[in-house]
Amino acid sequence: MKPQVYIETFGCQMNVADSERAATGLRKAGYELCDSAENADVVLLNTCSVRDRAKRKVYTRIGEIRTARTGDKQPMVGVMGCVAQLEGEQVFDHSPSVNMIIGTRATDRIPSLIARVRSGERNVSDLGERLESESWDVSQVERHSPHVAFVPIIEGCNKFCSFCIVPYSRGREKSRLAHEIVAEAKRLLTLGYKEIHLIGQNVNSYRPRMERGLEGFSGATPFCRLLRAVAATGMPRIKFTTSFPRDFHPDIVSAIEENPNLCDWVHLPVQSGSDRVLRLMRRGHTRADYLEKIDRIKRSPRHLALTSDVIVGFPGETDEDFRQTLELIEQCRYDGLYIFKYSRRPGTPAANLADDVPEGEKKTRFLELEKVQRRAQEKLYRGYLGRTLSVLAERESSRSKADLVGHSTCHKVVNFPGAGGLEGEIVDVLITAAKPNSLYGTMVNRPEIA
Ligand code: SAM
Repeated sequence: MKPQVYIETFGCQMNVADSERAATGLRKAGYELCDSAENADVVLLNTCSVRDRAKRKVYTRIGEIRTARTGDKQPMVGVMGCVAQLEGEQVFDHSPSVNMIIGTRATDRIPSLIARVRSGERNVSDLGERLESESWDVSQVERHSPHVAFVPIIEGCNKFCSFCIVPYSRGREKSRLAHEIVAEAKRLLTLGYKEIHLIGQNVNSYRPRMERGLEGFSGATPFCRLLRAVAATGMPRIKFTTSFPRDFHPDIVSAIEENPNLCDWVHLPVQSGSDRVLRLMRRGHTRADYLEKIDRIKRSPRHLALTSDVIVGFPGETDEDFRQTLELIEQCRYDGLYIFKYSRRPGTPAANLADDVPEGEKKTRFLELEKVQRRAQEKLYRGYLGRTLSVLAERESSRSKADLVGHSTCHKVVNFPGAGGLEGEIVDVLITAAKPNSLYGTMVNRPEIA
């Protein structure tokens, strides 16, 4: 019987994509992938370190795995991803049951690391760079969905926002070549995928080292040209996330307006509404710069949905700074907002500032912002009542076997009655009910299923 590997993924879409690639390489090397740690020979935890809580969760999980299996039934345990890259061999001291440390650019070398442990080495680690020859191939069976695929276009980050650990955990920005991305989109289309997400820490900072694949496509930035090139593949739905405000060129909106298959959704994290805090965060944009970008998005006849990220309780954030954030959030009328309490990350510039907003105050601000956003969102979601949305049916709803769930082009979760067999179809759904975070409706065109 082939050795069984279980991969558990925490954090962002980049981690999901890395796990898919790790699984592809492992299967090629003769391993079987399984879906629980219970009987696995090897357990890999693909970790996130963006906030302290995410990091602590990993150590708790390592403990759980160790105590769930007794005696010589212990699996080989590997820590992958951002915690591995940042903590390095300290993980071995902290958790002696761990055998492998696999950095963020070592995903493709996992089979050889496992082989080293199997041949008797107690602890192995690889925090090295990705090799030029490594491929980004992901086999279809390892993708998180048979209908929606993640396509990484850029990894790493050069922005060095003062609060953020990503430039340290994922290294400098490195863009994949455009012709590879376009070829991957075409391949996914042939395999029947209906939606792809171009992903990266800052997708719109995309800057490949050569132009191949972008010839013949206009655009104010390489990212705008890439969007047009990927749209030309005919993939039915293309989304992209996350965008960085300073690099958000208005031509991105023009590209969306020209191509119906570029979906009507933009995620543009603002982090704060106060210029003073934005300066301390080293975001490289002011409130006015940000609002100018939002204005272009809001003026689009495509009616683009807009979502964002905000941090409350950054060091030195006063009541007045927070009021300015509240005001900005109300003004932007976001379709969705991820709110985070500031978490001090050792090694970042902000870690040298006093984390002086008390935990209770961070929580109060979080809840106040959440309330304001919820009110705005309820109103916005009610605005969809009576409208028809194009929805990709992704899977059976976890709440009811009679319902399917999917996303609209504007990235809303939409539930609707529908039997199995419709998964993977794009259907029109008339919206009949709105909850704060999802919509409900009925199908108005039932496609013929072969
Ligand atoms: N490209 C994004 C941007 O423009 O900022 C960065 C993506 S980041 C990995 C995801 C989100 O986590 C950030 O947008 C930020 O809101 C939040 N975040 C990052 N570092 C944080 C910290 N130290 N404390 C709390 N939230 C944090």
